Amino acid sequence: MRQILLVANKYRVPVFPRGGGTGLAAACMPTMSGIILSLERMNKISIDKDNLMAEAEAGATLGDLIKAADEAGLFFPLHPGDEGAHIGGLIACNAGGVRAIKTGVMRNYVKGIEVVLPTGEILILGGKLVKNNAGYDLMQLIIGSEGTLGVVTKAWIRLQPRPQASATIIIPFEDRRKALEFVPKIFQIGVFPLAIEYVEKELVDQTAKILGMSWPCKEGKYHLMLILAESSEEALLLECEKLMDLCEKVGVLEPIIAERREEQANILKIRSEIYSALKNELIDILDTTVPPAKMADLIESVNKLAKKYETYIPAFGHAGDGNLHLHLMRKEGWSKDDYDRLRDEIYEKTIQLGGTITGEHGIGYVRRECFKKFVDRKALELMKEIKKAFDPNNILNPDKIFI
Ligand SMILES: Cc1cc2nc3c(=O)[nH]c(=O)nc-3n(C[C@H](O)[C@H](O)[C@H](O)COP(=O)(O)OP(=O)(O)OC[C@H]3O[C@@H](n4cnc5c(N)ncnc54)[C@H](O)[C@@H]3O)c2cc1C
Repeated sequence: MRQILLVANKYRVPVFPRGGGTGLAAACMPTMSGIILSLERMNKISIDKDNLMAEAEAGATLGDLIKAADEAGLFFPLHPGDEGAHIGGLIACNAGGVRAIKTGVMRNYVKGIEVVLPTGEILILGGKLVKNNAGYDLMQLIIGSEGTLGVVTKAWIRLQPRPQASATIIIPFEDRRKALEFVPKIFQIGVFPLAIEYVEKELVDQTAKILGMSWPCKEGKYHLMLILAESSEEALLLECEKLMDLCEKVGVLEPIIAERREEQANILKIRSEIYSALKNELIDILDTTVPPAKMADLIESVNKLAKKYETYIPAFGHAGDGNLHLHLMRKEGWSKDDYDRLRDEIYEKTIQLGGTITGEHGIGYVRRECFKKFVDRKALELMKEIKKAFDPNNILNPDKIFI
């Protein structure tokens, strides 16, 4: 790896690190002649049970890590979509997923990395450490840098004890605002679900139909899907009881509780496949993020925009994180400018609500213009200086993030 980067740097050859190729911002895409650097054969994982830590090479997949942790009686709690993603790609994207509300995102689990810089030096940052306060945190800078600052070759990742009991609950509402305003109330009673997802019944019914399955909740137009995961059946029961009391107090429609593993897996499968159900007619998938309590305002604004532009903008999201996936769908007669105008209006509203244009997918190649338009000038200037300090000849993923 070091040799490749030394030679590439000497002869100014662009290098494009590639993980599982599952990213949603085209960040691994080679955009000019150069080297596509695949790490798929660097895929070893070992588990240190005493330190609750996995040592994983960058080409191991998310599926490999979940399996290795499980075989050791431990648990890797994140699940950002596609299990074919590589550890290196997950770190480079700072991936999150439906469970981020309770468990955090990659940067909360990665405790150390081995990284090869574009200039060929190898750095070990952190390690099997729970605390590390030595100077600037370069590791955190590399996490989420989308393959522009260094090539991650190995990582030390914190694991957790495996939850012993779980349940999936669907809470239906007739009113969207009431559904989203229910979310902070869940935390206020001291319940911390593994996931709180907002879905619209019409969309999950459509997805279930395509899959030949059935969404179990028939009432209400707006649903919250919660996954509770606890260390014992007793703890799970207690959380369910608190939640049902809250449902009664607030006056929601009839919740559905799934406890059997298969039932829970079916619900999660339908939720996870919404993207696949839309993708044939999909032009762009946005992952705008606002403070969680502003999510209803964002959806209402988006619905107004859908009316104004006479289009359909399917929405679902990680309600506990304020992270909303909005889908720009193909519309007869529309040009790129029409989609750009609609996207810009959504981003403007998101920023007005104190949000960001991307909570998960990153900037990559496809969001560069929007990033330039919506990011703070000084912050952009500093980021470009950081890129120069790591990669003076701009060889690593050279045209990603910045234009
Ligand atoms: C169906 C689906 C659902 C998803 N849901 C979520 C979700 O809920 N939450 C979420 O956060 N994300 C989600 N994602 C996005 C997910 O975070 C990314 O797909 C994943 O992190 C990319 O990993 P990858 O190995 O495929 O990387 P790639 O797509 O191959 O590359 C992504 C970036 O990482 C860089 N890179 C890859 N390997 C390295 C390395 N070793 N060193 C340095 N840079 C490297 C690449 O250069 C590129 O910039 C979803 C994706 C899909 C397809």
